[in-house]
Order: sequence, then structure tokens, then C-alpha cells
Amino acid sequence: MTRLLIIGPPGSGKGTQAEHVARHFGIPAVSTGDIFRSNVSDETPLGKEAAKYLDDGLFVPDHLTNALVKDRLLDADVEAGFLLDGFPRTAPQVTELDNMLRSQGKRVDAVIELRAPDAELEQRMLQRAKEQSRKDDTVDVFRRRLDLYHRETHEVVSVYAGRGLVVSVDGSGDPGEITEAAIAAVEHFLNGQGGHP
Ligand code: ADP
Repeated sequence: MTRLLIIGPPGSGKGTQAEHVARHFGIPAVSTGDIFRSNVSDETPLGKEAAKYLDDGLFVPDHLTNALVKDRLLDADVEAGFLLDGFPRTAPQVTELDNMLRSQGKRVDAVIELRAPDAELEQRMLQRAKEQSRKDDTVDVFRRRLDLYHRETHEVVSVYAGRGLVVSVDGSGDPGEITEAAIAAVEHFLNGQGGHP
């Protein structure tokens, strides 16, 4: 039973790492960004509402995001664990997640913080823009996302650091090696905790 979070700036490769790390632990990776993007492409009511925020690189309002995560965390496949990618992103979302988990008698086991220098992040985003077509992968929108990360999401890392749950991983370099380093760091951390149900 492993409940993990992954936090990292845009362009840090957090989605890719989330997939690989989750596979290793045999848990589903749940990405709020992916859920929003698939709702946008399916033109669901949520997608229509969320699209404007995604396109502008802004946070989707909490009432939509929190409801989405709350629903998703009630699905059977996350009963035995999950790796949450993209949530919480703000201090109020941390409180929301605390409440959601507490009501199920669960808690977060570890938080992976993926770090990379800003200059490298922008380069990677430009590369990704050539390979995928994300509307928020333009220089202006990317800078807004990065700025929001620094302003809002760093605080999230601090809150979890205060609880002694953060495992920092260097996100520069070869993606496969980063995955291995992340898995090793999380396992080391969980073993050090003595494990708990
Ligand atoms: P990245 O971290 O690379 O910017 P994500 O796929 O995690 O990309 O998120 C893409 C977009 O989805 C965000 O810019 C935001 O608009 C929306 N989003 C994802 N997670 C959240 C969240 N927890 N709160 C608010 N908006 C979110």
C-alpha cells in the first residue's frame, strides 16, 4: 500500500516519471493535467469549463479540481495505493487532500520532489512542443506556469517537508536514470519509515 505524490515544475518530466515510478510500485498514476486534457478533447462540460485555464497556463479553480480528485480517489483501482501527479498544487489543495484521505483512514507516505534548473525546463518544453501539441507549451504560457509553480507550489513542498515526507530527486539528465534514482530514493525512504499500513 503506497500512496505517493510527485511534484515538479512544468517541463521537469514529472508525467513521464510518474508513469514509470507508479508501474514499479504497482499503483496507478493519476494525473490531474491528463484528466483535464482528456476532458477538453472529449468536450465534456468539465473540459469546456477547464479549457480556458489550461490554455492560459492558469490553475483550474479549486471547486472543479477538488471535486475531480475526490471522485477519482473513490475509484476501486486506487484503493490499494496511487501516485498523484499534479495535485495538490496550492496550500488549500493540501488541506483538501488531507481531508479526503483522512475520511478514508489513509495518508500520504512520501512526496517526490523533482528538481531541475529553470533554463533547462524551458528547453525541454520547447522540445516537447515539437513532439506533442499541448496548447500550453508556448514560451509565454510556459513562463506563466513556471511562475505559478514558484509562487504557489513551492509552498506545497514546504508543507510536506515540514511533515518529513519529501524525497528530492535531481530531474536533470537521462530519464531512465532519473526513474531509477527516484525509485531507489522512495524505497530507501519508505524502508527508513519502517513501513506502515
Ligand atoms: P505541468 O505541470 O507540466 O504544467 P500538468 O499536466 O500537471 O502540467 O497540468 C496542466 C494544467 O492542468 C495546469 O497548467 C492547470 O491548468 C491544470 N491543472 C492540473 N492540476 C491542477 C491542480 N491541482 N489545480 C489546478 N489546476 C490544475
